[in-house]
Amino acid sequence: MESKVLLITGASRGIGAEVAILAAQQGWDVALTYRVDQSEAEKVQSKIQAFGQRAFIYQADVSDELDITRVFKQLDKDLGRLDALVNNAGIITKISPFISMSAERIRDVFNINVVGSFLCAQEAVKRMALSADGYGGSIVNMSSAAARIGSPNEFIDYAATKGAIDTMTLGLAKEVGSDGIRVNAVRPGLIATDMHADAGDAERAERLKQFVPMQRVGEPSEVAKAIMWLISDEASYVNGALLDVTGGR
Ligand code: NDP
Repeated sequence: MESKVLLITGASRGIGAEVAILAAQQGWDVALTYRVDQSEAEKVQSKIQAFGQRAFIYQADVSDELDITRVFKQLDKDLGRLDALVNNAGIITKISPFISMSAERIRDVFNINVVGSFLCAQEAVKRMALSADGYGGSIVNMSSAAARIGSPNEFIDYAATKGAIDTMTLGLAKEVGSDGIRVNAVRPGLIATDMHADAGDAERAERLKQFVPMQRVGEPSEVAKAIMWLISDEASYVNGALLDVTGGR
């Protein structure tokens, strides 16, 4: 039987890489994007191929419209179908008081986290929609617990991008549900990835774990399992859900 096809953005490392590898383990063919780190993306590609699945890697900046259209056209050529999109690529911003955030920084994080996810979801819907001769499909957007916490004194701009992702998820799930497409979001809490170092505090997750009811940091694989469940047929009636993966935080 032909494998289903997953496209995941920003999967050269962290949660995205875990999703790509778990998907291959579960029998999916995988296309993934990376922005700068080709060698890390190639390592993920090899791991996917080790499960006997097809793997393609594409360089792309998700905030660049031309990059996104190029990726989807290449996906059409390489894999010929699309069953699931995981809108994972995202950046965090440096820890900062609200009043010190520059306009450039705020625009950058919205361009990557929000505009990028919108553009990728648009391309996916064009291919999946039953009304456009697609087979239906599933989109999972990467939100964050920050969307409801607000991240005061840290990165309100980043948190606000994830609030926008939640709202897009709710609206798009309603707009394309009748077209055979389910749209959901995962809202991770403190997950052990390099992202915290990018915020300027590599120990951030360890430092804040005392506020997690489960008293520990989450693993990328724990988020990946939730995402794979959402795109699977096991979640066939789950649409417009915002699934917290936070240890209760
Ligand atoms: P990482 O920083 O480890 O990985 C981010 C990935 O996104 C990398 O593969 C990176 O590629 C890619 N990326 C970044 N910017 C762009 C861009 N402009 N275009 C294309 N790709 C890009 O992050 P995580 O794995 O921790 O996070 C993944 C997602 O999960 C993000 O959306 C994040 O907001 C969300 N999240 C993470 C949490 C955490 O605690 N870690 C908590 C809640 C949500 P490259 O390295 O090549 O630049």
